[in-house]
Amino acid sequence: MSRPGAASATSKGLRLARKAWQLLHQDSARSVDLARQALQEALSHDDAQGQAWARLAIGYHLLYFGTPAEARVELSAAQSQFERLDEQPGFILAGTGLARCLWREGRFAASLELVLPLREPGLQVLQHEQRGVLLNTIAGCYSAQGRSEQAFAYMYQALRDSGPTHGRGFDAVLYCNLAHELQQIGDYHEALRYLDQGISRCHELSNPRLLSVLLVNRIICLTELDRAQEAMLDVLQVRSLPTGPSGRGTMATGFETLAIAALRAGELQAGRELLELAQAALRADIPDEQVELAIASALLEGQQGRWAQALQALDHVLPLVGADDADAAEGLSLRVRCMYFLLRSEIHEQLGDAAQALVHMRIWQQLHVARAHLASRARYQAAALQTELMRLQHKLDEQASQRRRSERAKAELEAANAQLSNKIVEVQTLQSALKEQAVRDALTGLFNRRYLDEALPAALALAQREHQALAVAIIDLDHFKAVNDRYGHGTGDTLLAAFGRLLASHCRKSDIACRYGGEEFCLLLPRTDAATAQRKVSHLLALWRQQRFEIDGDALRGLSFSAGISDSIRAPLSAQMLLQAADRQLLAAKQRGRSRVLALGTEEAPH
Ligand code: GH3
Ligand code: MG
Ligand code: MG
Repeated sequence: MSRPGAASATSKGLRLARKAWQLLHQDSARSVDLARQALQEALSHDDAQGQAWARLAIGYHLLYFGTPAEARVELSAAQSQFERLDEQPGFILAGTGLARCLWREGRFAASLELVLPLREPGLQVLQHEQRGVLLNTIAGCYSAQGRSEQAFAYMYQALRDSGPTHGRGFDAVLYCNLAHELQQIGDYHEALRYLDQGISRCHELSNPRLLSVLLVNRIICLTELDRAQEAMLDVLQVRSLPTGPSGRGTMATGFETLAIAALRAGELQAGRELLELAQAALRADIPDEQVELAIASALLEGQQGRWAQALQALDHVLPLVGADDADAAEGLSLRVRCMYFLLRSEIHEQLGDAAQALVHMRIWQQLHVARAHLASRARYQAAALQTELMRLQHKLDEQASQRRRSERAKAELEAANAQLSNKIVEVQTLQSALKEQAVRDALTGLFNRRYLDEALPAALALAQREHQALAVAIIDLDHFKAVNDRYGHGTGDTLLAAFGRLLASHCRKSDIACRYGGEEFCLLLPRTDAATAQRKVSHLLALWRQQRFEIDGDALRGLSFSAGISDSIRAPLSAQMLLQAADRQLLAAKQRGRSRVLALGTEEAPH
């Protein structure tokens, strides 16, 4: 229902900003374009609400495609504007974004501290996807702290609350996060399943950043499952993704992960290149990245038999990794710690130090046990989440197949309609052809006598109403029997058709030329009196007499006709009488020796 004034209540800037927000995951480039347009629009109209929402969308875009510092500028501005406007949903979303900035800087505890107080008010005022964004952020904080149980629980709620509004790509984000968390608890097979789904979903979106994150996660899974060779395809794909208009941001993560995959696959050269890229793009505040980079360096050294240097590379990050949980850097994942100690044990073994190899193997084992505990605690939540995802996936499939069904039904209906309208045209064409046939004479193409019987009274009535003369001429070809007898009936037909053409080509649009029967013709000439008609028909007679026909090598010419003419002024009583009067003139013309045109009340035209 449209309310008066509803359109003007939402400013153009606000509308653009909302659209940008909706496209955040679906089409990242268009989303930020719209958001920038929205900001311009809102700034030039002093529209605080439009500005706030535009900055919010730009801030979230920068969270993915820019630096946390860049994102923070926009999100802080948005937050203050929302506060002044007393717009709770926007205020909470801006706060959630600011928490994400901290998260991206590796400050996970601070991030959680910022976002948790937003949960209660957020659940009251946010809806669907917006709730999903909040809950998902909380899940991310727990995940980074190694608290998978809570992470799964929040993701579950995010999924339920965002509902089946998946056209916008938020489901692909959730697939990605779920898979990431399954990796944390060591369930690589399940993680792979969701990554496959997320990646195929992502191909329907236009969000290279999300695609690259999904691919990097798949590379992790495959490498952990000793399928690094397979991961190389994804490595290639990640590297071929566009870097975005700014030239950075889009793909700046994960090079160390790619390097590990390449080195595990035995691709030394690719590994070396990726390692260099990783070093260039390293974010010092993300412990997983730093440790993975060290692991990649160690692998590269090891592959060249330089085991002491390999150990050195790992030593660099030992303070981050810590021997037990309390010493480990905040946010360093169990997965990366496991990988570190296993590799360390291998290197000691290569260096012939069995005791150190065993020590590190033990640490690895303990971490594994811890991971197993974590997994068993999180299993219930993970299973609930997976069931919910399945339910939603089912719903989505259902919607898709319903859409396909209705599209098919629509196409069938359209085809049936097209067929029907073709049929109608066909029938109409047929009908008008039939109608034509009913009033036309087949041999000459002129009207037939039946048509004349209908047309004459109508033409006469019109003439009388308009006080105009209507002339009627009856024409009878002379000695036609003799022509037939001499040249055959076929030739007779040819001559009749030729005479038909002659009449048709010398008639006005309003004239009606008929074949009256046999070799007799009738002309109705509206707004013409007998004298004028006599001149016209005499002209036709002259033309007919001049016409030459080649018949079996013989030239036939000098054919003639006789005609009688009357008009509605001289014989005004009825159509019947008009015809009879013309017929009498025709008879007189025959009697006077044929080849002439006689008209009622006029002298014979000279010929
Ligand atoms: P007149 O000058 O007195 O009119 O002589 P006529 O021979 O034309 O007159 P008549 O009425 O004796 O003969 C008419 C002839 O027209 C007879 C018939 O064979 C011929 N005719 C009528 N209809 C057709 C037709 O459809 N095709 C052909 N080839 N001849 C036709
Ligand atoms: Mg005749
Ligand atoms: Mg005749």
